[in-house]
Amino acid sequence: MSESYDLVVIGAGSGGVRASRFAADRGASVLIIESTYLGGTCINAGCIPKKLLSYAAHYRNDFSDAEGFGYDPHPATFRWPRLIAAKDKEIARLNEVYARILREAGVTLMRGHARIADAHTVMVGKEHIKARSILVATGSRALKPPIPGAELGITSDDAFHLETLPDRILILGAGYIAVEFASIFHGLGANTTLMFRGEAMLRAFDHDIACHLAEAMAEKGVVIKPSMSIARLARNSHCLEATLSDGSTLMVDCVMFATGRVPNTIDLGLEQAGVELGINGAVKVNDRYQSSVPSIYAIGDVIDRMQLTPVALREGMTLADELFGEGLLKTSYENVPTAVFSHPNVGSVGLGEKQAIMAGHTVRIFKSTFTALRHTLSGNSEKTFMKIVVDAISDVVLGVHMCGPDAGEVIQGFAVALNCGARKSDFDRTLGIHPTLAEEFVTMRASN
Ligand code: FAD
Ligand code: NDP
Repeated sequence: MSESYDLVVIGAGSGGVRASRFAADRGASVLIIESTYLGGTCINAGCIPKKLLSYAAHYRNDFSDAEGFGYDPHPATFRWPRLIAAKDKEIARLNEVYARILREAGVTLMRGHARIADAHTVMVGKEHIKARSILVATGSRALKPPIPGAELGITSDDAFHLETLPDRILILGAGYIAVEFASIFHGLGANTTLMFRGEAMLRAFDHDIACHLAEAMAEKGVVIKPSMSIARLARNSHCLEATLSDGSTLMVDCVMFATGRVPNTIDLGLEQAGVELGINGAVKVNDRYQSSVPSIYAIGDVIDRMQLTPVALREGMTLADELFGEGLLKTSYENVPTAVFSHPNVGSVGLGEKQAIMAGHTVRIFKSTFTALRHTLSGNSEKTFMKIVVDAISDVVLGVHMCGPDAGEVIQGFAVALNCGARKSDFDRTLGIHPTLAEEFVTMRASN
């Protein structure tokens, strides 16, 4: 006998769980199907465990900074297995929290791999479930480059479960994951090389910010190799041997690929159901998240717009409100703030300088590089860099960017200002909070 629901959601990650709760709150009968762990990538192999490891990696700097403030820190000993066990305990707690959230919202949870049989039927094993609407929220998966020996390398999924901290690690890629994990492994004590095929890291970010980060990471001791790639990987008796694109070789204990993520649409039955997919497998949707089959919707990483948790959450809320509520919510893809939890952090909202020029703006640029007050005593040579991109004609602030401590925390508030259409004159009339790093954003007067 088959059950019937208003909404069947495939994938209990960020987007799926949020859409389910919102739909149930609005009176819909909802079933959510999950093949692995509740909470999806963000909770189990993304934002949360990544940030916990990033905090751990900060301590090495903190111990040495403390000396300048009068402390004699005892030699600190780091135990990777203890960190991983503590992280796993927290993730298990969060999995339970997600189960409770779904239960309390009145959403039915089913475990198993879901496949779409037709426009209104989902199958889990031999069970057929009927749905007025189906939501695909299956996320994305890491992609390894097609090089000989790629199976010897790991991805971020595996990095969270290594038995030991590698002595030497080579990370390929220059996006979010590559720079974050290079900072994590380096901070925890691994000899870290970050290699990428382009000239600069973080290609989607403002170029000055990316350059500042590259210099800061190199200054800390990460070996940065631009314009280089891995041609092949082989294992010898005691380590991995990476043959590089210039013919040289590098001996390491671990190679990590951080070379992008693709939508999770394999073995879902989408094509057979008539759902159109893009070249990289992303579900094609209209501005109501509706696929080419009107009863099948998709949100989050699987539609490959912006692979960020808050975006998946917002899309889930928008869709549930559209289907079962008043349809008043919207998802705007403008001024989406973002942070890279590298060491130092990057925070960014709005347009970078080149992006603004390419969009037709005449720009005024405000930049500042300075030593944070804390580092006047710590002896740490790290510099903070800030940049504001302003439309020269209207005075509207187009972008606010920072590379420095807690950049994400600082930029979040500026995202509100940009969404309110703030002008540079609004920044100028705002008083700073002294002494902070963020006050620099309201005291920059001379354009460069
Ligand atoms: P997911 O959260 O991945 O959920 C998809 C779910 O679907 C999974 O649980 C999966 O098991 C399930 N599923 C798949 N197929 C099936 C099936 N056939 N049947 C049943 N279930 C299925 N974003 C940020 O905003 N900030 C960060 O700091 C950040 N850090 C990240 C760090 C890493 C290492 C990674 C990999 C990603 C990070 N992200 C971050 C991105 C963020 O995790 C994703 O954008 C977000 O999780 C996408 O949510 P989603 O709902 O689309 O998919
Ligand atoms: P990104 O798309 O950010 O970066 C992928 C990198 O891999 C780029 O540097 C790209 O180079 C490189 N690359 C791709 N293919 C190859 C190849 N065949 N050989 C060599 N290099 C290659 O992906 P990530 O994997 O870093 O992260 C996936 C997504 O997850 C991010 O885009 C982000 O949306 C999300 N995320 C968000 C985080 C956050 O909010 N803090 C943290 C982690 C992930 P090129 O630039 O030359 O194409």
